[in-house]
Amino acid sequence: MTTAILSALVEEQQGLLQLLVNPERVRRGGRSYWRGELQGRNVVLALSRIGKVAAATTATALIEVFGVQRIVFTGVAGGVGAGVQVGDVVVASAFVQHDMDSSPLFPRYQIPQYGRASFDCDPALTALLLEATHEGLTRARGEFHENNLYQNPGVHQGLIASGDRFVSGAAELQVLQNGLLAAGYAPLAVEMEGAAVAQVCFDYGVPFAAVRTISDRADDQAHVDFPTFVKEVASRYALAIVQNLMPML
Ligand code: SAH
Repeated sequence: MTTAILSALVEEQQGLLQLLVNPERVRRGGRSYWRGELQGRNVVLALSRIGKVAAATTATALIEVFGVQRIVFTGVAGGVGAGVQVGDVVVASAFVQHDMDSSPLFPRYQIPQYGRASFDCDPALTALLLEATHEGLTRARGEFHENNLYQNPGVHQGLIASGDRFVSGAAELQVLQNGLLAAGYAPLAVEMEGAAVAQVCFDYGVPFAAVRTISDRADDQAHVDFPTFVKEVASRYALAIVQNLMPML
């Protein structure tokens, strides 16, 4: 059984690469895929790259070329649900594409020819990821300096919305949320890749689970908060979560 660990950002992958046993780098489609073992489990590490198309390409190659049997995705996201703060973590239960709109031919957000707008994550893999997240955060927290702001991260589980846009304005976010809510979708977070990977995994029947650390609130401050956060917090969370997940698989 080979598990793909898909990272959205270079910083998140660095720690994993250092732990990879018997690493073998394979280049394909302008990307690097790393085969090896993490804590005795066969893995392929890959960067999704940014945006839905790039992430779908990476996910397809992981399945078709590298034969992975499940995909776990880590990344950062903008927190949009009430009480979802910077430094919190969201484990995805499902994904929707907030920029999919074939109306009036199809209901807004519905993906033509699929008859659906959202894709569920695999419940069993997601349950393990949730457990690993709780344990991983306890561990990562212990490594932070006393003055760190993110001492007590909340862990949430729910819908995540993806689209090809870095959402960085309160007004823009309001429009996005109002549209989704009108269709019955209340996302906890927004990002740019997860729904694409969820759709590819749906097509191939490959179990998928995803976790996102909240780097910003998708508001006017988003671009300021983002870079510092990725380096200082998100990469450590992702590493700790994956390290806790591996022995559970
Ligand atoms: N600085 C990065 C690019 C970041 S793009 C680089 O140079 O490679 C933003 C990334 O963070 C995407 O992976 C996206 O999924 C996620 N993200 C974080 N906050 C977001 C927000 N408010 N809106 C959309 N995506 C967000």
